[in-house]
Amino acid sequence: MRRRIVAGNWKMNMTPSEAVILCEKLKGLVNNPEVDVVYCVPAIDIMPVAEAVKGTLVKVGAENMYFEEKGAYTGEISAAMLKDAGVSYVILGHSERRMLFGETDEAINKKMKKAIEYGITPIMCCGETLKQREDGITLSHIKSQVKAGFDGIKAEDAENCVIAYEPIWAIGTGKTATSEQAEEVCRAIRECIAELYGAEVADKLRVQYGGSVNASNAAELFNMPDIDGGLVGGASLKEEFGSIVNA
Ligand code: PEP
Repeated sequence: MRRRIVAGNWKMNMTPSEAVILCEKLKGLVNNPEVDVVYCVPAIDIMPVAEAVKGTLVKVGAENMYFEEKGAYTGEISAAMLKDAGVSYVILGHSERRMLFGETDEAINKKMKKAIEYGITPIMCCGETLKQREDGITLSHIKSQVKAGFDGIKAEDAENCVIAYEPIWAIGTGKTATSEQAEEVCRAIRECIAELYGAEVADKLRVQYGGSVNASNAAELFNMPDIDGGLVGGASLKEEFGSIVNA
């Protein structure tokens, strides 16, 4: 039985002092021992959030990292820095990073490997545009993103990774994929992992759905057989996140 995982993606929201207030507000609402709860926060919020969630079950995640070890990469954050600051998870390949910052499958693959090397669990995002869905190429596109992201990653590492299926047309739009649409793609992701690594790894790896998850649609989505939780943007900044975790 796969353990559920609900991660908040705060994106570019919350100053460090606002972040601490939000953690306090959510404290009593998200402490569910049956679910892994992660706050993926802006780099500058990582240390205050790590301090604010001490003594709770919440884990801290980052929203991005660079694949090089260290050096002349102005503005970037390394895996070693994240690890030292208390980070356990990192979102990689979010569609906003792919589209706005030109992140390629190749770069995401390098980041996956570096995160794994440092014992940070990648939450690798994949998802199709509305045009790709309308053109009927959703599943082939998702499979190619998954295969590229996991290229060269060993089975024993792959099984601990998380994949977030996030249809781009559903992110921040209020439009959610139906539970059937989300399940179809999450099942295809699991089949793709089975093709790469075999059924045992596919059965262990956790797949999340993300895209306008809220308190009213979370339970239905999370009850689908291949959906092991969610990656939540907007609603992770509100008390509503507590209801999503408990859904
Ligand atoms: C996200 O950006 O990861 C996301 C799922 O956003 P939202 O929940 O706001 O659609």
